[in-house]
Order: sequence, then structure tokens, then C-alpha cells
Amino acid sequence: MGVISKRMAALGTENAFKVGDDIARAEKRGMDVIRFTLGEPDFPSPPHVSQVGVDNILAGNTHYVDPAGIAPFRKAVADHVSRTRGLSIDPERVVVLPGAKPGIGYSVTTYVDPGDEVIYPSPGFPIYESWVTFVGAKPVPLHLRQENDFAFAPEEIEALITPQTKLIILCSPSNPTGGVLSRDVLGGVAEVIKKKARPDIRVYSDEIYEQITYDGFKHYSIASVPGMEERTVISSGHSKSFAMTGWRIGFVVLPTVEEARLFKQLNINIVSCVPPFIQEAAREAFENPKTAEVVAHMVGEFKRRRDYMVPALNDVSGISCLKPLGAFYLFPKVDGLCGDLGIHEFYRKMPGTAQAMTSPATLLMRFLIYNHGVAVVDRRSFGAIGAEGQHFVRFSIATDLETLRRGIGRLVKASKDRDGFVSFTKDREAIGVEI
Ligand code: PMP
Repeated sequence: MGVISKRMAALGTENAFKVGDDIARAEKRGMDVIRFTLGEPDFPSPPHVSQVGVDNILAGNTHYVDPAGIAPFRKAVADHVSRTRGLSIDPERVVVLPGAKPGIGYSVTTYVDPGDEVIYPSPGFPIYESWVTFVGAKPVPLHLRQENDFAFAPEEIEALITPQTKLIILCSPSNPTGGVLSRDVLGGVAEVIKKKARPDIRVYSDEIYEQITYDGFKHYSIASVPGMEERTVISSGHSKSFAMTGWRIGFVVLPTVEEARLFKQLNINIVSCVPPFIQEAAREAFENPKTAEVVAHMVGEFKRRRDYMVPALNDVSGISCLKPLGAFYLFPKVDGLCGDLGIHEFYRKMPGTAQAMTSPATLLMRFLIYNHGVAVVDRRSFGAIGAEGQHFVRFSIATDLETLRRGIGRLVKASKDRDGFVSFTKDREAIGVEI
């Protein structure tokens, strides 16, 4: 029997949180660690939004509310999504959630049976793969390649769709690549879905980075393509756009009111409701014109950092990095660096059991944390299935320019530290696997 259910063995995790343990261990050894791991804006939540939250708490708006969300916020969400996606959304199709993350588990639970197939981007947000395996569905990763700007051609998704496909997950702008899906690509993807997939499939469109785009790129939703609104779950929230990660506020727009009722029922079973004072503040974020200025300032800062970081990374021997059009992540290829430092060679000589639990990019990540005080997140953390041979790490640029500069300085030093890597290979705790 055992204490823990068998089911739990299939649950994945989000390593951007777990890497914190290694950072803490390195810091305990006296290493100062610069974090490029943060998946949240390093800006305060907009003061005019916070004020509404505080006022509502003091006014006693602190009790249970409608599990689907309070009417004024659902209306604000419906208005925002309608305006930005060229749709006409009934607020009854909106369900408010504690963050954008629950929408993933809710969708997999609602639409997917064991044995069904789920297509999802890889590299992608790790929670997709985690839920798919947790419910006993078949994970079908759609591999995104740097050569294609981390987008993909409609034919690539067409090749993965079968009669068993039940859910297709898309994410644009993307975590971890910063890649975006253009209107053209999404138009092609929609055609393929309409042509090849069963009519009862759903698309889960993760649009949490919708407001963080650069160089004039405008976010586009697959739900805006004619014929797709009725198949698409639009997911977004305030965490990234308005620097409100700790508030835990997100939402989904479901294709039908019936599906919205099921999501509401999941809320009833799991969280009851999102706190009303948080929803009031979130409504303010949408309705107060000051919010646009706050977002513009933040995105401007991210762009300045991106424009510094991308050439700086490309100047490091063995690293090649694209200039992303969205989100606040860079996802450089580190194949050359793994070669230069002797990581590939060391990995090749590891026993198979140890190899299966790590990767060259993982070893690089750990070497950078323990030996050089720079924390990034490895490729495997963004969907491990079929990721062998892909040598990438994620840098978050949600850190001020001065810190980014210091981090680059350390990275340049690390890139020349072959001897340091040799001593790292003798450090069991730092390597992280038994060899
Ligand atoms: N989707 C993606 C692609 C994300 O990157 C994140 C946060 N890292 C989420 C969903 C979850 O957002 P939230 O914090 O609002 O739950």
C-alpha cells in the first residue's frame, strides 16, 4: 500500500522554484548568487491597484463570493478579452482563478481522459507536461526549434494530430523562449486543426504574457481566427502584465457557458473562490487608464535589458541567443559552451542511470550556480520528454541592468573555466546525481 498514492509519482513540478534549493546550498557555502531564474517582473504592483485591494479589505469585503468570480471583474475580463481579441464575450463564459496556472490543470481534468493525447509546446511551461502525465494521458511534445525562432510551421502540428488528440496547448508569447506566434502562423494552425482534428477537441491558449511584447509585435490570439473561438480556452491573468504574481489572480474564457460551469465547480471543490478584494483590485487594473502607463514603463525596461543582454550573451564564446519578441526570457543555445568546458565529454562518460537524471545543460546550470554564482534554468525544466540533445538554458531578464551586467561578467569568466569544471565534477553535492 504505502502512504503515498501511486498517482503522485506521475506529478511533475516547476524547477524554476526548485532551483532555489541549489541556490540556497551554494549561498550556504559562501557563494553570492545572481538570479536569472525569476519568472516574475521585478517591479512593484501598480500602487493604484494595490490601494483598491487595501481599501476593500478595510471596508470588510473579505467574505466568500461567487466561485466563478464577482460580476464586475468577470465583466471587466470579458470587456478586455473582447476588445483585444476582436470578440464578443459573454461574462458568463469567464471563470476567475487564483492565477493563470490552475487553468492548465482544470483544462486537462475537464477535457482529457487517460489514453487521450495532448499536444503541447516543448520547451514550454513545465506544468503542461506535469498535468498530462498526471492524468495518464499521452504527452505529445511539439518541439520548438531555435532555427524557426521558436515558432513552428502548421505542418509540424498537423503531423502530431491523430484521432486520439483531445487537447492542444499553445503559448504565445512563450515561456521559456520569448518566441511569439504570428497571426499568419496561427491562421495556418487553425486551418490544420479544423481540417485534421476531431471537432470535439479544445485548444488551450496560454496568453499570460499578452501585454509583454517588443518591436511593434502585437499579441494575437488563436481565438480571433474565425471558427476558433468555439474551440479555444483563452487563459491569461495579471501576474506578468501587471506585476501581480503574489496576488494570485488569473482567468479563463471558456468556449461555452456549460464548460464555465464545470470550471466553477472545480473552483468550488478546490479553492471555493478568489478573494473579493483581490478581484476588485484586478478589476481596477483593467479599468484605470493609469495601468497602461505602468505596463508601458515596465515593457520599456524589459526591452532595454533585452537589447543589452542578447548581444552580450552572443559575445560569450559557445552561446547563441535569439532576440525574443515577447515575455521576459532569453533562451540561448549553450551547446558550444558545454563543449568548450568539457561538459559533453563528462556527460558521455557518465553511467546511463545518471545520464537519465541530468543533461549537459543541467550540469552547466549547476556549475554556474555552485562555482560562479550565476543561476539560470536548464532545458529539461521546460519539458523533459524528447529533450535529449537540446542544449539550452533560460535567462530571465526580470533583474536590473546593473545585475545583468555583473552576471554577464561572471558568465564570461565561467566560459573559460575548464579547470573549474574539472573540480566541479568531483563535488557530489554540486553535480546533483550519483555517478
Ligand atoms: N503560464 C505560463 C506560460 C507561465 O509562464 C506562468 C508563470 N510562470 C503561468 C502560466 C502561471 O501564472 P500564474 O502565476 O498567474 O499562475
